[in-house]
Amino acid sequence: MVHERPSLRLVPEPAPEPSTPSAPRMLGAVELLPGRIRSAVLTVSGRVLDRSEVAYDAAVPRPAEVDAALARSAGVFADRRPVGIGIAAAGLVDPDAGVITEVNDAPALHGYPVAARLHDLTGVPVHVEHRARLQVLGDRWFGAGRGRRTFASVSTGEVLGVGILYDGEVLAPHGGRSGAHMTVSASGERCTCGGRGCWKTLATTRWLRARAAAAGLGTEASLGTLSRQDGAAAREVVEEYADNLALGLVNVQQLFAPGLFVLHGEARDGGERFRALIERRLRRDGAAVAAELPRVLVSEAAVDDVALLGGAGLVLSHV
Ligand SMILES: [Zn+2]
Repeated sequence: MVHERPSLRLVPEPAPEPSTPSAPRMLGAVELLPGRIRSAVLTVSGRVLDRSEVAYDAAVPRPAEVDAALARSAGVFADRRPVGIGIAAAGLVDPDAGVITEVNDAPALHGYPVAARLHDLTGVPVHVEHRARLQVLGDRWFGAGRGRRTFASVSTGEVLGVGILYDGEVLAPHGGRSGAHMTVSASGERCTCGGRGCWKTLATTRWLRARAAAAGLGTEASLGTLSRQDGAAAREVVEEYADNLALGLVNVQQLFAPGLFVLHGEARDGGERFRALIERRLRRDGAAVAAELPRVLVSEAAVDDVALLGGAGLVLSHV
């Protein structure tokens, strides 16, 4: 005899939401430099899926040159439509108007309405910010600053500068700069800006090379080669360089107490010892009672991707 299984009373399931198979969300990023446009499509976790690079003549004061290059570069967004595009632009930028105000040595970019042009090409929302300021957003969304509302992102090497995320917002006051021309020495060397004793006169690659040469360590020395040498002379130059970098960061810590400093660029070549030297100086001179003990981390992001990650972070900050 076959037992019939008791029939189950089925509660009708709610009808499934009408859904289209949703494509993963993508982020668009563009780095706009004098003579070069880099574009990339990234995942929401910051992985680059596709990229393009187009050169153009920035010396000719004709926006048509930039138009053509931008159109070619934007081809990367045709197949993988991003939710938005963040532009990391060199020079002075008006983020509200989406316009490049001025760039040294690139008359083609003067007054260029890059956000409107790229929006016309792609049909997606486009935001633009100064390249150096965006680095902190790359760290905030994809790097060592994840989950933090306040920290600093530092460029080291040929270009020196600090971007600060403060209570969730990028500090970007109109007319504010990146810190390279903070005065750190009352009777220091003359700077390219005409001032004296600017931070960049003693905390960039140019200073390191000159100091190494003066110490008899050759004219080709770099932070990487000096850090790998055993001699006292090389060690002293590296220590002085770390101190000079820390000098600017100590002031930033005193003013904004970012607590975390994420270093990009050349600092990575100095290895753990260089990182620790800067952190020690920061803790000695920058730590106020009750503030978080300053920490220094070195970014592992590829140098070429830092601005693109910042652009992608700008998109995430707007959605
Ligand atoms: Zn200066």
